Amino acid sequence: MTQLSRREWLGATAAAALLPTLRAAEGKDYTLPPLPYAFDALEPHIDAKTMEIHHDHHHKAYVDNLNKALAGTDWLGKPIEDVLKEVKKLPEDKQQAVINNGGGHYNHSMFWQIMAKKSGKPSEEFLKAWGSNLDSLKKAVNDAGAKQFGSGWAWVVWVPQEKKLSVMSTANQDTPLPHGWFPLLGVDVWEHAYYLKYQNKRADYLNAWWNVVNWDAVQTRFKIAMKG
Ligand code: MN
Repeated sequence: MTQLSRREWLGATAAAALLPTLRAAEGKDYTLPPLPYAFDALEPHIDAKTMEIHHDHHHKAYVDNLNKALAGTDWLGKPIEDVLKEVKKLPEDKQQAVINNGGGHYNHSMFWQIMAKKSGKPSEEFLKAWGSNLDSLKKAVNDAGAKQFGSGWAWVVWVPQEKKLSVMSTANQDTPLPHGWFPLLGVDVWEHAYYLKYQNKRADYLNAWWNVVNWDAVQTRFKIAMKG
């Protein structure tokens, strides 16, 4: 067995910390990952009450309902990314519940990780893969989020087939995973993510959201994605 270099080991540890749902616990229930900061850490851009309800109630409900949907099956506890990629192999009567609640668990686990009080900036490598500057990326994501009718997410994904970044949106808790695309960053445009502070002004929420993007976490996901 080759020993991991210290750098590789640190990288693997950082990746594991950033991707909590990757940890397989065969046959065990999924659990709600703790929020990696205080509810008020993202103030004034995202208010504490929204964070509390969003994490402790909305995300928890996705986890609970995912566990209910997979109870008694061999799929329970498998890495949620794999379950979502292979959702068509699940019993037909469970597929939509897993898309909704497994997607909700995956999306929110990522969402908490890619936000932080200090936002930093994207790497040059990341912007090169996008093909333009940060302003054009923000505009593309904000447009995708604003145009998503009803509830959903706006995403920056790594498209392995083209070795570049792309912007897209999905409805409800659907993920980019079944397309084979790796989500690097996603912004929740469900009303529960912003309504207390921004009411119907989704565009204001989207503009403010960029102040709390954790670019270090996005960069870590980018590196994992590029490794395939
Ligand atoms: Mn949400």
